[in-house]
Amino acid sequence: MVSIGGAQPIELLVVQPTPFCNLDCSYCYLPDRGNRQRMTEETLQLLCRRLADCPLLGDTLSVVWHAGEPLVLPPDYYERAFRLFAESLGERVEIRHCFQTNATLIDDAWIALIRRWRVSVGVSLDGPQWLHDRYRTTRSGAGSFAKTMAGVARLKGAQIPFHVIAVLTRDSLTQADAIFDFFHDESLWNIGFNIEEKEAANPHSSLEVPEARALLHAFLARFIRRNAAHGNPIMVREFAGMVGAVLGKVPDIAVGQQSTPLKILNVDVSGGMSAFSPELLGARAPDYGDFIFGRLATHAVDDLFEEPSFRRVCAEIERGVANCRASCGYFALCGGGAPGNKFFEHGRFDGTETHYCQLTKKAVADAVMDALEDEAAGLAGDNRR
Ligand code: SF4
Repeated sequence: MVSIGGAQPIELLVVQPTPFCNLDCSYCYLPDRGNRQRMTEETLQLLCRRLADCPLLGDTLSVVWHAGEPLVLPPDYYERAFRLFAESLGERVEIRHCFQTNATLIDDAWIALIRRWRVSVGVSLDGPQWLHDRYRTTRSGAGSFAKTMAGVARLKGAQIPFHVIAVLTRDSLTQADAIFDFFHDESLWNIGFNIEEKEAANPHSSLEVPEARALLHAFLARFIRRNAAHGNPIMVREFAGMVGAVLGKVPDIAVGQQSTPLKILNVDVSGGMSAFSPELLGARAPDYGDFIFGRLATHAVDDLFEEPSFRRVCAEIERGVANCRASCGYFALCGGGAPGNKFFEHGRFDGTETHYCQLTKKAVADAVMDALEDEAAGLAGDNRR
């Protein structure tokens, strides 16, 4: 049963300042990326007031400005927004603002804002130019690589730390060497691999092929070997997380952030509140509606627990996690998956295996366990000599 009594603090707030994006990547899942609406100052104030009144705030809060390209709005928009957050919540909560950006618009004004507010930055960059430009294009079909690399150069020049998110498509999976060489030669040391997902406005993925899991396993194994041969200079988010899980060092692994009610709060450009997987923002389904469980104008954040639509999704997700626990040998490493992917693949939240989890959990776990076994065998060999 869903109740606020056992609820855990909100860890991640995803705010959609605008749905608009200056690019038009072919695998993008955002349905509304041509819409130039922006979140008004009144909505931002209301959001901060709702959060200040919310019993679910913990000591820290990550605020990700996302679900459109955040930097299409000017830096002074965020100057005001960040000040509002600091004035409303700063005494109670340590706030960390984060931009996930295509980096094409980064100039000196952005560098100053990012530095002043210590914003965490993630850059979307898929690898070498021929690969990146195949998918990450403007509306006229031009590649975005040169502009993204100009933004990367500005971040590096200003010594602002950032990480990279690279989307893997079918074309990437035979290119482990080219992708490793690119990131290594560009001194990009902090990488996360996302896969092209079938969700929302992207109804098909190039990875929906029977050989995808084997290809991804081989890609990851090759990347791990190349990285190890160089002394492991690149920190790969998936490997670090999975090594922690395999070695049992990650607390609470069985309770996924996306599956726990309101550990993630998603707020859309007009003040609609959603939860669970951020990709549900903007999605619609005949049987579920728009996944907006309440509105800032009419609901306190914790009012969502009383909403029938929210309770229904919670209960389905809970059943899905229980079904995973009962049926999947990878459960201890996964925690029951991403509800959004279950929904986009099965049309419901209480399913189990998805194409997404075969790749992002099972193939990653297999590649990491192979590497740990190889390392253990190597150490055993050294000890015998
Ligand atoms: S790997 Fe897939 S099937 Fe297994 S627990 Fe995770 S989501 Fe469920």
